[in-house]
Amino acid sequence: MIDSHAHLDSKDFDQDLNQTIERCQEKNIRLVISCGTDVNSSKKNLDLAEQHSIIYAAVGIHPHETYQIENATLAIISGFLNKKKVVAVGETGLDYYYNFSLPDVQRQSFKHHIRLARESGFPLIIHCRNAEEDLVKILKQEKASEVGGVIHCFAGRKETASACLDLGFYLGVSGMITFKNTKDLTSLFSELPLDRLLVETDSPYLAPHPHRGKRNEPSYVVHTASRLAELKNVTLEEIENQTTENAKKLFRVT
Ligand SMILES: [Zn+2]
Repeated sequence: MIDSHAHLDSKDFDQDLNQTIERCQEKNIRLVISCGTDVNSSKKNLDLAEQHSIIYAAVGIHPHETYQIENATLAIISGFLNKKKVVAVGETGLDYYYNFSLPDVQRQSFKHHIRLARESGFPLIIHCRNAEEDLVKILKQEKASEVGGVIHCFAGRKETASACLDLGFYLGVSGMITFKNTKDLTSLFSELPLDRLLVETDSPYLAPHPHRGKRNEPSYVVHTASRLAELKNVTLEEIENQTTENAKKLFRVT
C-alpha cells in the first residue's frame, strides 16, 4: 500500500523514524509521500527521501504557513522540484477555518503553486478546509486540471467532490472515516469511484481508530483501508491494489 500523505519531517518522528519505517515494511506499506509545509520542512523531506527508499517527497508551503512567504520563497520551492524523489507540489491549498494566514495571501500562494505544478508537470497535493467554493474556482481559473493531483483528507460536500473529480483530481481518504459520527463522509465515500481514491494517514495527525488521539504513523493506513473496504463492500486486498494503482499513476512511481 501507499500512504499518500504524511509529514515524516515532523519532530514527532525524530526519535524513532527507523522503527516507524520498519513497521511500514511489516504492514506492506511500500511507499510514503511525505509533504512539506514550508521551506525547511520541504528541505527535510528531500533529505529523508534521499536517506530512505520508502520515502518520496512533496515540496510546498502549507496554507497555514503562507504568511511567511517572501519573494524568494517560491523560487526556493521551484528549485527543490529538480531534486531526486520529488513527486508533487504541496502541500498547498486554502484553509479558511483557522485563517492562520490571510485568505488573500493563501489564494495568491495557491495560485503560485498551481503555476509551479504546471511549469514542472508535477501533480498537486491540496489541503482545503472551509474554502470549497474558492478551491473549485481557483482550480478552474488556473487550469489545474492540466496536472491534476489530490484533494487530501477530503471531508467536503458531494458537489465539491464531483467538481474535483471532473477536473481530474483524486480524493484522499483519511482516518476520519474510522471515527464515529462521520456518517455524511462515509456515505459519500461509499458512492465515489474507487479508481479515484487514495488512502492516507496525514501522520503524525489524525490517527485512525483504534489509535485515535495518539501519534499517527504510516503503518496505520491499514485501518483506513479496512474501513473503506467495509464501506465499498469489497475485500481489503481490492482496496490495497486499487488505491496503490491510483497513487502510482498519479505520482508516477513504481
Ligand atoms: Zn498534511
